[in-house]
Order: sequence, then structure tokens, then C-alpha cells
Amino acid sequence: MAKKNKVCRNCKRFTIEKACPICKSNNMSVTWKGIVFILNTEGEVARKLNINEEGKYALYVE
Ligand SMILES: [Zn+2]
Repeated sequence: MAKKNKVCRNCKRFTIEKACPICKSNNMSVTWKGIVFILNTEGEVARKLNINEEGKYALYVE
């Protein structure tokens, strides 16, 4: 079985680790909606979501 993806509540980054690789928070959620891949942090989506690292993010985290 695949490991359950968790999402950091702080920065919405996906991870399978216990702590967020970006902000080091351990405030994780398994309830999320929507996936966005940020390939360019200068792009409109990244700016709207306030994302400074490329990677996989959730649009909504509960
Ligand atoms: Zn984070």
C-alpha cells in the first residue's frame, strides 16, 4: 500500500515525512482537497498561494 500523503497545515506542502521539509512544522493534516504542482515559483499560481518552493501542494487543507 502507498504511504498516506500528509499536507502541512502551515504551507500546504505534501510530504510523507513526520515534519514538513519546507517549514519544519509537524502540524500535518490528512484531509485536503486539490493538488497543484508548482514548477515555477515566479508564476501566478505560486504567487497567489504564497509558495516559495517548487513542489506539490494542496489547494485546501482542513
Ligand atoms: Zn510546511
